[in-house]
Parts: sequence; C-alpha cells; structure tokens
Amino acid sequence: MKYKIQTLGCKVNQFETQALETMLQTRGLTPAGEGETVDVVVVNTCAVTAESGRKSRQAVRHLENENPGALVAVCGCYAQIAADDVATLGVSVVHGSGDKERFADDILAALREKKTIEFTDDPFDRRVMEELPGGAVDGRTRAMLKIEDGCVNFCSYCVIPYARGRVRSLPPVRCAAQTEKLAGKGFRELVVTGIEIASYGRDLEPTCTLADAVEAIARASGDMRVRLGSLEPTVVTEDFCERLKATGKVCDHFHLSLQSGCDETLKAMNRKYDTARFYESVCLLREHFPDCGITADVIAGFPGETEENHSATLAFLKKCGFSAIHVFPYSKRPGTKAAEMPDHLPNAVKVRRAAEVQAVADETEEAYLQSCVGKTLSVLFEREDGEMSIGHADNYTTVCVHKGHLRKLVENVKITGIINKMLVGKIV
Ligand code: SF4
Repeated sequence: MKYKIQTLGCKVNQFETQALETMLQTRGLTPAGEGETVDVVVVNTCAVTAESGRKSRQAVRHLENENPGALVAVCGCYAQIAADDVATLGVSVVHGSGDKERFADDILAALREKKTIEFTDDPFDRRVMEELPGGAVDGRTRAMLKIEDGCVNFCSYCVIPYARGRVRSLPPVRCAAQTEKLAGKGFRELVVTGIEIASYGRDLEPTCTLADAVEAIARASGDMRVRLGSLEPTVVTEDFCERLKATGKVCDHFHLSLQSGCDETLKAMNRKYDTARFYESVCLLREHFPDCGITADVIAGFPGETEENHSATLAFLKKCGFSAIHVFPYSKRPGTKAAEMPDHLPNAVKVRRAAEVQAVADETEEAYLQSCVGKTLSVLFEREDGEMSIGHADNYTTVCVHKGHLRKLVENVKITGIINKMLVGKIV
C-alpha cells in the first residue's frame, strides 16, 4: 500500500507529519514514488488564517482529482475547527489536530472495512501531550522535536487555541530520551518546537519551565546543536538567558513573536507584553548572546491600526534591528475576536503597510549581514548547488562556500562577503 502526504502550516504540523509517516510505515505502508499508484492520500491541514483554510480544502480536492482511486484522509487544525466542511469533500477519514496514533489506525480500518471514519474531540479536554517520535522531515539534515502542544493566550487574531486546546508539555525526562535517540541517528542540529513553547511546563507536576526542558535536551544532545522555535518575549529573562548560555549548545538565533511595535495595537491584539518589555528581551538576548540573530513576526494592517500606530511600528523595528522579519498583512480569521472588531482596513492599505514593514526588514537584515562579514560562523551544510555547498549558520543566516560534498557536516566558515542576502565565505 502506497501513501502520499501533503502538509500545510507550521513546524509542529511538519513534525507531526514526519511522525505520522513513521506510524504508517510501521503499519506496512510505504511512500509512493513518482508515477506510482497511490492508495492513501493524507492532508495535514492548517487553520492559522482564512487563506490557509482555503488552501487546505484546495489541497484535498487537488489530491483527490490526482489520485481518483485513493482513500483520502485529512487531519490537522483546519479539520479540527471545520470537520463538517472537510467531510463534504468526499473524505474517508476526518480527524482533528490530536491523537495521530488513532488517526493512523483509522486509516488502516477505513482501508480494510471500506467505511468513513470521523473523529474530532474537544481539544480543551486533552490533558496529556501525545508523545510522537522525533525525527527529520523527508531526509532533511535537521531533526525536530515537539515538546509542547496547545495555547491559552487567546491573541485576538488567532484561532489556534480553539484548534489545539490547553497547554500540554512533554516531561523533561522524555525530552531527553527523545533527544538521545536523535543524537544517535547522527543529526547535527535539533529544532525544538511546539505551538507556544514559552508556556512549556506550566501543566506538569511539579511545574517547570522552558529553560528546564532546554537544559535536559542539551545534556542529551551529543553532537547536535539546539535551535529554539518561536518564543513569546515574556519567556526571556536574565535567568532564562543565563541558563541557556550555560548549556553551550543553544544556537545564537532567537525568533521572537512581536506582531506589532505599537503598544495600542499590541493591546488590541491581546498580546501579553508592551514594546518596553519586548525591547528588554532583545537587550537581554544581546547581552548574553552578543551578535545573535533575532528574527520576528509582524502583522501589518491590524483592524483599527492608524497611520501613527503604523509609524510607531516602523520606528520600533528599526530600533530592534532584526536580522529578518516575517511580514503578514492582517488576514481576517472567522471565529476570532479581531474578526468582529470595527475599522478593518482596505486591502490596499494593508498591502502598502506590509511593503513598508518589508522595506525596514530588508534594511535591518542587510545591516545584520554586513555585521557578519569578517566573522567566523559555525555552519551546518544542508544542500549542494553544483560546486557550492549551502547551509545555516548558528545565527540562522544562510551561508555558501565554493566546495562540494559538505552536506550534513558542520564547518567553521570565515565570512568574506554577501551575495543576494546570502553570506559567502571560506572554510577555516
Ligand atoms: S500565542 Fe497567540 S498567536 Fe501564538 S498560538 Fe497562541 S493565541 Fe495564537
């Protein structure tokens, strides 16, 4: 039996897909090669924006048409919050965002008994995080480990808490055991991910923190360096930075979820910090990890955002000097508080503001890349392009060298220049 999987969305979804592949393979299914007949099509959906919901439905239809005889199974956040919609797409198995083990079993049962199976629970009833096998997505060089699920921050523009439920964490001892296994497989970098890892450990008895998990992972990491997924700025404290630094394993790149550089807009978004607290986090990270890369997410054109608010955001972005910014024009997500707010902005205004944020992003990114020239960075090489090898440095910049056959190796590279937002250098 051959399967084909399409994944939409975040690192957590990618992680869950690689775990699902492991489960399907232990049940005797194998990935379909190019041109091979597919027996099972799986779509792991995303609901972060209305657009990702539309793309999820489109992916289901596309794979159905492409594989007329195949059983279609759908899971993930969009299926969790819109199971009835998904069921109307002629799908045989509909599951939500939880219980991947049961999802794999239900695919086999639907194949065997030629029946339709639908299972979606109330994500707020989930108490324990389902432990899934860590690993790498389709042969990539970096392994991933999901240590947390769920979120109860209820940012006004976000539907994720309704799709993922309350915070559930993988106990530190289990994080260490999974890490040890991955280190044994020869990976050189481990990406620690979750829906909202800053909340890690608040559900455990005794409660613990993200720093506890990172310390446990670092001790078990062998040759792997440890890269953290997206962080809420509130988790960044003196103690947090000192403990991460002391592990000697944490990559000096931090992705902070900012969303806006204006206090009024942050309040309307129901974010849990203001720009002063955010900037404190930036300064703390730079104090303990000099030259670190700090990247951020920004939503442009949030309902009610005035030109003054927007200008405040642009000024704040310049002040922070991010090494990269992911810019998102606000996208109305039905079922969120923000969707019901007044003063939604015309699309042209959102697009224009997003472009202005991107212009600042390009400026600060260029400045950060310039600051890397002359430095020696530790690079994990991930792919080759002719005689060139390309990879990511500790600080998450992209680096290339004129030398082949370096994939999966970590080398020190002296940076000599920049080409198209990519650092170039020589191995030392
Ligand atoms: S922190 Fe906010 S934006 Fe992130 S998943 Fe939770 S509710 Fe959504």
